[in-house]
Amino acid sequence: MFEFVISATSGPARTGTLTLPHGTVETPVFMPVGTQGSVRALSPNDLRSTGATLVLANTYHLHVRPGEQVVEKLGALHRFMGWDRPLLTDSGGFQVFSLEGSRRLDEDGVEFQSHVDGSRRTLTPERATEIQWVLGADIAMAFDHVVPGGADAATARDALERTLRWLERCGKRHEELRRSGGQADGGAATDRPSAGPHVRQTLWPILQGGTHLELRTEGLRRILELGSWTGLAIGGLSVGEPKAVMYDMLERLEPKLPALPRYLMGVGFPEDLVAAVERGVDLFDCVAPTRNGRNGSAFTPDGPVNIRNAEHREDPRPLDATCDCETCTTFSRGYLRHLFMAEELLGLRLLSLHNVRYLVRLAEAMRAAIRRNAFGPWAAEWRRRYLHTGTA
Ligand SMILES: [Zn+2]
Repeated sequence: MFEFVISATSGPARTGTLTLPHGTVETPVFMPVGTQGSVRALSPNDLRSTGATLVLANTYHLHVRPGEQVVEKLGALHRFMGWDRPLLTDSGGFQVFSLEGSRRLDEDGVEFQSHVDGSRRTLTPERATEIQWVLGADIAMAFDHVVPGGADAATARDALERTLRWLERCGKRHEELRRSGGQADGGAATDRPSAGPHVRQTLWPILQGGTHLELRTEGLRRILELGSWTGLAIGGLSVGEPKAVMYDMLERLEPKLPALPRYLMGVGFPEDLVAAVERGVDLFDCVAPTRNGRNGSAFTPDGPVNIRNAEHREDPRPLDATCDCETCTTFSRGYLRHLFMAEELLGLRLLSLHNVRYLVRLAEAMRAAIRRNAFGPWAAEWRRRYLHTGTA
């Protein structure tokens, strides 16, 4: 369980299989985001039809509403949201450091105000680990201290040191829960159809360090000293710094990374996926496909299309002629535009569905290019068409 086998490489780009309690995941992989236990506007059947294999849910949001005990009573997160394939839960660190409202940080954890009812709550490394254990995703994330993209070295150092101390506490609590078979709250362990309690969840660390390579390098070394992990997340990128800075950081980190699955958090625009896979990244998540879809923006091989534009009014063509999703095989651009202009809910679902399918297909195409050991030429051709550039 939690095995990661790389089957082909093409430069730093690699393709592999990650084995999890609820199924296997072929990488590179894009994870749709189901923040509140729902990928907005999409049912589990919709998600399965896109080929999504791994979905992300959020600890902070599910903790403040409906509360992890409610989710547990209703059979834990997989059953609660009707998703039988692998799940990953983010730890809530990013949310408590980025959502509006007052918060108080100390060594123990973060006290914050719920965005739902204003109540004061505290997340600590132990609590974040316990909540995720109760939710029961295949992969849990360590509770981390996230700083903004432009943070100076001293601020980034402080957050890195705290993240490492918190990682140790998360690891210790997770190990206790694993050994006890899941008695996070003294209640009965929930059933897992395909895994016993001792193998039902793994914990991944998050590498911080801002845009400072020396901090990232040191953080990586110390994370690897703290345990034998089954995966590694790179956090704190794509948080406001220029894209070139993120790409440069990935390129410099790549040779130092172990052979674990590498998860670049919060990244999911098509051009970023291609650039990051080129630099050795395996997993991604982002709200972009569903958020943009609800705004009428669709990914296509020729770049983004705004379906609200008047040019689509009488357009009989599908949104993306190369796509096999329900949206593209059933409806014209003219009809989709009509749905958005008339504010019909179906439009939100159809564009979200297509955008998720687009990123799942993009990952499939990248895996195929890696297996042909032709990722570079494939990426150049992809960019020429998507970004309308003459060069890679
Ligand atoms: Zn489509």
